[in-house]
Amino acid sequence: MERLLEELALASKHLSDFKDMYEYKNRLKTFTKWPFTENCKCTPENMAKAGFIHCPNANQPDVAKCFFCLIELECWEPKDDPWEEHTKRHSCGFLSLTKPFDDLTMEEYYMLEMTRLRTFLCKIGRSVIKAFEEEVAATRQRLVDNFVSKHQYTPLPPVPLQADPPVQHSESSYSQSKRIQEK
Ligand SMILES: [Zn+2]
Repeated sequence: MERLLEELALASKHLSDFKDMYEYKNRLKTFTKWPFTENCKCTPENMAKAGFIHCPNANQPDVAKCFFCLIELECWEPKDDPWEEHTKRHSCGFLSLTKPFDDLTMEEYYMLEMTRLRTFLCKIGRSVIKAFEEEVAATRQRLVDNFVSKHQYTPLPPVPLQADPPVQHSESSYSQSKRIQEK
């Protein structure tokens, strides 16, 4: 549960911080340690124009994330065109704008921001549900193990939590964005 709270805190921070990333120059500033700068298509400028910000970590130094639809891509190669890589994998409300961001009316901006918030909340919701399900499964296993060891009990197979048939989730930005390793 502690990990979940940390995730929620980080998501909340990103929700606030990413609001500044509508500005191209703010996205560009995140690419100071980007490994591709010359003789390639995925320069910092092109990455920022395609809505990306650089989000490196210890194991994945070239992770880039769209501040708006939150798709994450890694394993970049010099020939990769950021805009193309982004749009072919996910429909992004920011890249789909039909006019420059600075020309949006206030109403258009708020509609855009609502979409961004909805995207964030969906992602957080999925994380919470997944973490909760994992915790329930782990707790159940601990109880079963404890009972078996004390009473020589053979457990029944797990019972589904609900009677409804499983629903296939539509492919979301997050499931798609999970590393896109084929690059
Ligand atoms: Zn996007």
